[in-house]
Amino acid sequence: MNLVTMGLTEKIKNDFYTLNTNEEMILGRVALEHKRMYRVWTEQGELLCEVSGRFSFNALNREDFPAVGDWVALKPRSNEGKGTILAILPRKSKFSRKSAGLTAEEQIVATNVDTVFLVNSLNEDLNLRRIERYLLLAWESGANPVIILSKADLCHDLELKLIEVEAISLGGVPVIAVSAETMSGFEKIEPFLQPGETIALLGSSGVGKSTLTNRLLGREKQVVQDIRLTDDKGRHTTTHRELILLPNGCVLIDTPGMRELQLWESTDGLTETFSEIEQLSSTCRYRDCQHKNEPGCAVVKAIQDGLLLVERLTSYNKLQKELAFIERKADKRAQAEVKKQWKSINKQIKQRKNY
Ligand code: GDP
Ligand code: ZN
Repeated sequence: MNLVTMGLTEKIKNDFYTLNTNEEMILGRVALEHKRMYRVWTEQGELLCEVSGRFSFNALNREDFPAVGDWVALKPRSNEGKGTILAILPRKSKFSRKSAGLTAEEQIVATNVDTVFLVNSLNEDLNLRRIERYLLLAWESGANPVIILSKADLCHDLELKLIEVEAISLGGVPVIAVSAETMSGFEKIEPFLQPGETIALLGSSGVGKSTLTNRLLGREKQVVQDIRLTDDKGRHTTTHRELILLPNGCVLIDTPGMRELQLWESTDGLTETFSEIEQLSSTCRYRDCQHKNEPGCAVVKAIQDGLLLVERLTSYNKLQKELAFIERKADKRAQAEVKKQWKSINKQIKQRKNY
């Protein structure tokens, strides 16, 4: 296995050498996790690994354990095809979600993604607010977003849609319209699929992520994903990996967690969260009401009448400002700023929900 094709960079190599005081360690990339057992790609082939006892002891949280996409330092165990993971190398990016429950534990669903394709269908009514939320999610992760507008063959006003979406990305994020039917637009995706790059797809169910993956693979995904392996008893077993090598040497991460991120996105979405304010706004006297002290403001009235918490409006205004902010600026510094503020908004919303 060629680790450079799998995304190994000089930076990771250096991190590894700094850490490797023990000559017996080798580098690997996690391709699958199942109940704290890891399938790791190494130069010696795929090894089935566990974390060391010391690693477990030091790992305080779930995010301290390896996740799909992670580069790890491990010690192979003789010729058994097994190994022990001793450390995780610094993550370049990570996608995570908070698991529901009393403690907001972070569950990492994919790491070290270079480019994330935010897939949105041109078929259903294209939701610009949703794209903005995906953009925030991508920036939060550290991966570079590319907006993919799928099912272009079903769209009658493509030009207009492109203008609308480009307006929120402000030239800072590429916007590509594709059709898996006519194969239009795929040539614009190609440049992002460089050997050694790691990509991931994010988008609601039904927008065409599987179809896109199949087109990128050039054949049915299952055929490629199913690697025939010999198990302990010498039988051939078929299993899938969540790290997929595309024909041109690009790595695609496709984990169930990555697919479920959209569920989290849609249930916790801000439109729903602030739906009562959106609804009230529509009855304000002025259409462009800022809900400050304009006459006939339904939102302020609701607060005065004790029907709406003033903190709700504060959060809402904050979010509106954030969104306007990214619309104005798409540079790195602005993104970092948005990330910071986004975190506090999220926290406020959570507190509100815990009432
Ligand atoms: P996923 O849930 O995001 O993985 O979506 P799928 O890849 O399963 O696609 C959902 C449906 O959309 C399927 O019926 C696909 O055939 C259809 N679809 C996907 N891409 C296109 C496209 O470019 N054009 C058209 N017309 N249909 C598409
Ligand atoms: Zn108002």
